[in-house]
Amino acid sequence: MFNAKKIQKVVVLGTGGTIAGTGSSALDHTAYTAGQLSVQHLLDAMPGLQDSLQGHELVCEQLAQLDSKDMGHATWQVLAQRCVHWLSQAEVDAIVITHGTDTLEESAWFLHRVLDSHKPVVLTCAMRPATALAPDGPQNLMDAMAVACDAMSRGVLAVCAGRIHSALEVQKVHPYRLDAFSSGESGPLGFVEQGTVRWRGTAPGPAVHTRTSCALTVSVAEWPWVAVMHSHAGADARQVSAWVSAGVKGLVVAGTGNGTLHQDVQTALAKAQDQGVAVRLVTRCAEGQIVGETASFQTAPRGLNAFKARISLMLELLG
Ligand code: ASP
Repeated sequence: MFNAKKIQKVVVLGTGGTIAGTGSSALDHTAYTAGQLSVQHLLDAMPGLQDSLQGHELVCEQLAQLDSKDMGHATWQVLAQRCVHWLSQAEVDAIVITHGTDTLEESAWFLHRVLDSHKPVVLTCAMRPATALAPDGPQNLMDAMAVACDAMSRGVLAVCAGRIHSALEVQKVHPYRLDAFSSGESGPLGFVEQGTVRWRGTAPGPAVHTRTSCALTVSVAEWPWVAVMHSHAGADARQVSAWVSAGVKGLVVAGTGNGTLHQDVQTALAKAQDQGVAVRLVTRCAEGQIVGETASFQTAPRGLNAFKARISLMLELLG
């Protein structure tokens, strides 16, 4: 009997963002509404899509239609559940996620922490709405397809403006320019040039995943409340006590320089910690990470920025 070989698939999950945004003028890059066009619409509008798929069949699902400034835990849970569903299927080689730029790095880090798969999950985005004179979304989506189909791709990645970033390093660093993301001192993992992926040095090894399956199943209403705060000149300790009285379970504090804290905030945080609030320290500096041990509070791992450290602490407290 003839057994037809199954065609491998790439799944595209739509969540909204500027990539799916529309505005009233082709010249306006800021006054538009994010999350208006369906992911199917974005794919249909892409010239050369079939070539970029390298023989893969395309499946797409609209999971949300958000401006990613409004991204929330409930959408993350659905996103993670759908990723698990698709990644567990042998004929699915990769997932591409269309996402807003504002919280892309947080969704990437969340997925990195909760998914247990080495198949690529590639987030992509746009800085200009789909109705712009020269939108960047179609090229970014095309590049994301190339990364999704590349044999060396592993784990959760982000693709924007021809650069490939890891979930660990990616950070939005600019509010307007097309190349809005950076991987800081590490630099991007690679580039997409004319549809071809070029890894810098070696391609990413198998991504290290720490499956936190609780986040897939526990109601988001029960996820522990973890907040982010900054230490700064004139910082007021009352913010800490307000959070503690309101029931916060964890605080990530972005300290000055090498994780130093205003003395008033330091005292209030020590008290909060004694009352059972988990405290993690990061630096508010744009580059680098805290070096050496700090006196009073645990440093967030791996030089995470405050917003990724918030996710890690939340998952840690979730168990
Ligand atoms: N506010 C938009 C969003 O994050 C910005 C963008 O996608 O570029 O959804």
